[in-house]
Parts: sequence; C-alpha cells; structure tokens
Amino acid sequence: MAELSGAQIVAKSLATQGVEEMFGLVGVPVVPISIAWQQEGKPFIGVRHEQAAGYAAQAASYMRTHLSAALVVSGPGMTNVISALGNAQANCWPMILLGGAANITLSQMGDFQDAPQVEAARPFVKWSDQARDVRLIPRLIAQATRSAINGRPGPVYLDLPGDIIDAVVDESEVQWAPRVEEPQRPMVSQESVESAIEALKTASNPLVIVGKGMAWSKAEQEVQEFVDKTGIPWLATPMGAGVVPADAPNNAAAARTHVLKNADLVVLLGARLNWILHFGKPPRFKEDVRIIQLDIEPAEIGTNVPTEVALVGDGKAVMGQLNSYLDENPWSFEDSTEWIASINAEVERKAAEQAEWASSNESPMNYYRPLKEIQDRMPRDAVFVTEGENTMAIARQVIQSYEPRKRLDAGTWGTMGVGPGFALAAQVVNPGKRVIALEGDAAFGFGPGEVETAVRQKLPITWIIFNNNGIGGGAPELPEDYETGAINPGQLTPMAHYEKIMEAFGGKGYYCRSPEELEAALDDSFQQEGSTLINVEIAPGAQRRQQQFRWLQR
Ligand code: ADP
Repeated sequence: MAELSGAQIVAKSLATQGVEEMFGLVGVPVVPISIAWQQEGKPFIGVRHEQAAGYAAQAASYMRTHLSAALVVSGPGMTNVISALGNAQANCWPMILLGGAANITLSQMGDFQDAPQVEAARPFVKWSDQARDVRLIPRLIAQATRSAINGRPGPVYLDLPGDIIDAVVDESEVQWAPRVEEPQRPMVSQESVESAIEALKTASNPLVIVGKGMAWSKAEQEVQEFVDKTGIPWLATPMGAGVVPADAPNNAAAARTHVLKNADLVVLLGARLNWILHFGKPPRFKEDVRIIQLDIEPAEIGTNVPTEVALVGDGKAVMGQLNSYLDENPWSFEDSTEWIASINAEVERKAAEQAEWASSNESPMNYYRPLKEIQDRMPRDAVFVTEGENTMAIARQVIQSYEPRKRLDAGTWGTMGVGPGFALAAQVVNPGKRVIALEGDAAFGFGPGEVETAVRQKLPITWIIFNNNGIGGGAPELPEDYETGAINPGQLTPMAHYEKIMEAFGGKGYYCRSPEELEAALDDSFQQEGSTLINVEIAPGAQRRQQQFRWLQR
C-alpha cells in the first residue's frame, strides 16, 4: 500500500467531509497541507492576513450550508484568527480552522512559534483538539465536522503539529472515517404546532421576524409559504434578508420601528432577541409582547422575554409542519385591519422620505444617493457584503435582498474587518454572480491587502468604498474645550485615494465625487471582467436620519 503524509491525510479527510475550498496563509509548518489540498483538485485561496482566511471560511460555510476551512501557521498566525472564531461563534456559523503548531517532539524546548493554541481557541469554538497521532486524523476531522454543523452551528479548531503534518504512515494504518451524516432536522410535536397557530389567531398586531437561522436551515421556501398563507406582516434581520424576497407582500421592513413597537405577538424564526432586536424590551417592543419562538437551540428559548409557544427544532422541518397544519386548517390574517393599514401608511411615508434623500444632487454625496445608484444596477441574485457604521446601517434600509444567504455584514458581533474575507468567499461560492463589497473607509482599512488576493485569484469583486475621512460618521465631535492640538482619534487621511490600491495590482479604480461620476463608474465597472474599486467621496457630516432611539445606532 502507498505511504501517506499527515498533510495528505488532512486533505483527504477534509475532502471526504465535503469541504470544497480552503482559505489560508501558508508558511512553516502548513505548506504541505496547502499543496496536498491542491493535489486533491480543490481550490486553495491564499490571503494576505489570517483574519481574512477565518472570515472567508465562515462565510463560505454559511453560504454553502456546510463546512469550509481555513489554514494558518502556528503562534501569531493562529492567534490572528481568534477574532474570526469569535465572529463565527457569535453568528452561529460553522467553520474549521486548521492551525499549524510547534512540533510535539520539541515540546517544552522553546520551539518556533510555540503557543497554547488549543486553549486559546477553546472559549470561541464548539470543539478544540490537537492531532497527536497521524493515523487518527480522519477521526478527529469527522468529529470536528459533526460538532460544527449539528445543532446550533459553530466553529471548530484542529491543532496540527509540524511533526504530525510531516509524519508518513502506510495507508493501511490510517483509521479512515466516512462522511458525517447531514444534520438531523428535528421536528416539534403536533400540540406545539397547534398551540402556535391558535396563539397566532388571537393576535391583533402579529409580526413575523425572519433571522439568519432560517437561511442556514434552508427554510426559504417554507418561510415564504408561511408568510404568504398567513398574510402576516414580516421583516427580516440584517442577514435574514433575502429568505423572503424583499418584494414579497407584507414586507414591513421600512416600518421597522413602528411594527416592533406595536406588535402584540411576534413569531421569531431563527433569530435571537439580542441587541440587534433590542433585547425584545421596551421602549422598542411592547411591554407584554407575546413570543412564538422557533430555534434549534433549546437554551435560547425565553432569553430576555418569556416565550409563549416554544418550537424547538429545525427551521425548515418545523416551518413545513406549520404549513401542513395550515393546509388542513386554513387561516389567514385579515388584510383589512387597522394594523395592516398603519403599516402600509408608514411604509409609504418612509419610502417618500428616502426617495427625497436619494434624489439629492449634492457633491460630495450623502449616503442615500449612491446607495440608490447601486441598488438600481444590482442584479437580483447579487451577493451584497457590507460593513462600516453608517455605510452598513443605511445600506440596510436601501439595498434590497431577494435570495437567501446573499447578504453578509458585520453581524451579531458588529465586527469590523469582515468584509474583504466575506467578499472573497462570496465570489468563490457564487462564481459568475455579481459580488459587491461595500466598505466604509475605516472598515476597509482592516483588510486592503485582500484586494491583491481578489485580483490574483481572478475573483471579480466590485469593491465600493464610502469615504467620509473618518471612523463612523466621520471624525467624532470633540468637546468645546478640546485644545490638545492632537489629531482627532476618529480622523483618517482626507480624500485618500483607495482606488490606487486596486490599480497597484492591475485592477481598475475610480474616484467619484459627484452622482454623475458615480453612475459612470458603476456602469463601467459592471462591464469589467476583473475586480474593480470605486472610491466614493461622502460628505463627512452626512448622517443617516436621526434615530428615534439613539442606542439603535450602536
Ligand atoms: P439574526 O442575526 O438574523 O437575528 P441570530 O444569529 O441572532 O440571527 O440567531 C440565529 C438563530 O438561529 C440562533 O439562535 C440559532 O440557534 C438558530 N438556528 C441555527 N440553526 C437553526 C436551524 N437549523 N433551525 C432553527 N434555528 C436555527
């Protein structure tokens, strides 16, 4: 029988588990893994900073609804990905991080880049272990996979010492593991289904909230059918967007403040009542709001607000059960109620307000005009990645999503720096589709090196920088007596020419100050075959409309 190295066994095991691509940054001791992976016929996307590999692997996992991998070197390489592990954990996304590690045989001798990596990963992952015997690698990778994709998904970490990666064994000695089964789709009891629908019938102001747990469980058809059958107003969380197409009836997104505040019963589907949903508490929600909660994680039930009907199970399976019950016992919400009329009026009012801001011809621009120009040109099936404070928040109002798992942003952790890695993953997973990475200038600063990755890997991403010369809404206001002469902590170089970063690597760059320049740049960039970067000057003082509650803007 043939001999295999640890690196080859890692590559074969990942392929067996259905991993399609690996993002990474190579060096000692992981180079042989990247090569073995390519020899398996799989793509290796070499990035410029380990954080991008971590963000890309988790975004690819989510978009594929399976597992994707990141590969990094030991010590600082591995610790550079800990924020990405935290981000995957916070967003309930799987990924497997493979970290090179110091040689076991040189343990306690001060080996190159030695670090307590298994322990460092542990608070941020579902599973963390070290390969100590080359023959057992397939079993470890199977167990890591099982842990990552089952139940509430999350990241896993496998530590790979250099002498295990390089060890060679006879193929017959390896304890191969078969592909892990697809996750079970647990259902709920018939009584729970009935209780949920009966509770719904008693609501006068019902609301469905669709979270990214429904995107992960691929429940798009079932959720669409449910909102269609019941006629209940619905809204999506930032990354739940697209599970139901934005132009489906009863989309209450534009009336978000109004519906959250006045709903008497919320059907919470694969979303948590955390800060993104204002903890389900007043003043953003009604004091005594009733909750029907669907989640795969039993411990999530009742968090922050008591749950009236708990549906603990898989999103797709349980929505199917609700729909079947409604087929046998048809019911829909009256569409002539005051509730629907009030939502429609609010949606119209907001649309008119937004249209006015979006028609501004000012140079430099506010946020709404360029977002409208992007929206008008974006294909329905584009993937939209965005981060940055105002850039992301206002994009949530303007840019619409029509397909599931095609919207990625700073998410549950509000992590800045995720965009470049997410965009790389989006283009790898969706070849031939338009990927737009809209970045605030501060957010882009975390990962401009990945522009080179995109060009080199022939990933034709459209990067758009909203450049307001500062962190958040531009440099923060300073106290009146602030006379230190120091540079404002939130200030960035005014009118920096970020487009030249793209040009440095052979892509096309554009600098736009006026709406006309932006329109021309967008039209031209959408004709290009490669990556492009459009640098858009945004008026530094431009803010989104005043929020009724300041803490929403956090
Ligand atoms: P959002 O950011 O869209 O509000 P969250 O990340 O807060 O969404 O919540 C997603 C929820 O979806 C988590 O509580 C998670 O447990 C749940 N979830 C994950 N997978 C499934 C699944 N297969 N079925 C139902 N719920 C799921």
